[in-house]
Amino acid sequence: MEATLVILKPSAIGRAIAGEVISRFEKKGLIIAGMKMIQLTSEILDEHYAHLIDRPFFPRIKASMMATPVVVMCIKGKDAVQVVRAMTGVTNGRNAAPGTIRGDYSMSGQENIVHASDSVENAQIELNRFFKPEEIFDYTPEGLNYRYANDEI
Ligand code: ADP
Repeated sequence: MEATLVILKPSAIGRAIAGEVISRFEKKGLIIAGMKMIQLTSEILDEHYAHLIDRPFFPRIKASMMATPVVVMCIKGKDAVQVVRAMTGVTNGRNAAPGTIRGDYSMSGQENIVHASDSVENAQIELNRFFKPEEIFDYTPEGLNYRYANDEI
């Protein structure tokens, strides 16, 4: 099954909606394969957001991402990368569709509640960045046959 990285950002922790956001992934039928709270550092954010490093707002994003600890999650499921991105919504919460996490919980382009990997390739890189192999669990949750048809997994 495909795996993707989700980060519950300080905007989720600070507003005390982490549980609600986790619950959305669970209710969708996705599998939580790894989860822990960590404090992000300047070094790891330079790596994680390397594509934004030249933007004028980069120092602000970094400060925002280090404002509280975050929760990092490995989420598994068929087509998990695309499914989680769709649930997340577009970057700016004001433009994100209602029903998406950002659309329902964010009014901001920066304080947008979650990070989700944008491709299968990046998901692997990002999971390796935040998790040791032994922190990601391979187990079969109850009721998998109610989440998928036999030929889907
Ligand atoms: P996404 O998180 O949707 O994949 P990006 O990788 O482009 O989007 O940006 C990473 C994060 O940087 C965003 O989630 C957001 O928190 C922040 N960010 C991106 N663009 C802006 C912006 N123009 N102003 C403020 N923050 C931004």
